[in-house]
Amino acid sequence: MSKLYICPTPIGNLEDITLRTIRILKEVDVVAAEDTRRTIKLMNHLEIKKPLISLREHNEDGKSESIISMVKEGKTVALVSDAGMPGISDPGEILIRKAIEEEVEVITLPGPSAFIVALVNSGLSTSRFTFIGFLDRTSKNRVKELEDLKNKTETLIIYESPHRIKNTLKDIYKILGNRKIVLARELTKIHEEYIRMDIKDMLENIDSLNILGEMIIILEGAAKKEEDEQIKEEVLIKELYELME
Ligand code: SAM
Repeated sequence: MSKLYICPTPIGNLEDITLRTIRILKEVDVVAAEDTRRTIKLMNHLEIKKPLISLREHNEDGKSESIISMVKEGKTVALVSDAGMPGISDPGEILIRKAIEEEVEVITLPGPSAFIVALVNSGLSTSRFTFIGFLDRTSKNRVKELEDLKNKTETLIIYESPHRIKNTLKDIYKILGNRKIVLARELTKIHEEYIRMDIKDMLENIDSLNILGEMIIILEGAAKKEEDEQIKEEVLIKELYELME
């Protein structure tokens, strides 16, 4: 039976593609790509020639149907995004959901995803973490999102772009207060760097830090409340509810 393969691609260093991903890209009938111009470069590097079709964020709904029809007709399709794991802040989620609903077999290959590398190498707690992806572009909505995250005690992972980083850091400091932050940038590339400090220091030194390229913010979780404090808070909330009844 034909299948839909989800294929992770390198996030910078081309050596990070797996042998299995290369084999699957060689074997499939069609490659669905986020940006065919970018994928053609990778395919040329791997010396693989395949028909490419585009699956972008804005056409994922419609294109998913035609990809699923292709697989049902007997073609094997690979999905790749520009970098890393499809479906992680990249197109893929809708296609995978629809494929599963329509009983098309989906196989996701293991491979690079930027946040896992950043989290593991951050030195912050890896036992519990929340992947946020991109925060909203507008400060008003970003602040609301951060309000919901401020009491989370697990490590937080945020994708960000260089032109929004300063404003995002300001909002993070305003809402989450001072805590450890790791800025992981240009991972697997020549200028790979981890900047580890607290948020206040990072903001004070932001103009002297070379914050360019692709980056990920890893944030320490909120300090755990003492048990006594937690119980007091719960009692207070209960009393408030009782007063309101
Ligand atoms: N699907 C990708 C993955 O699995 O990580 C993520 C795609 S998302 C559109 C792009 C964001 O991922 C960038 O803005 C950055 O936050 C992060 N990113 C991707 N590659 C990176 C790298 N080499 N170094 C640091 N961050 C990276």
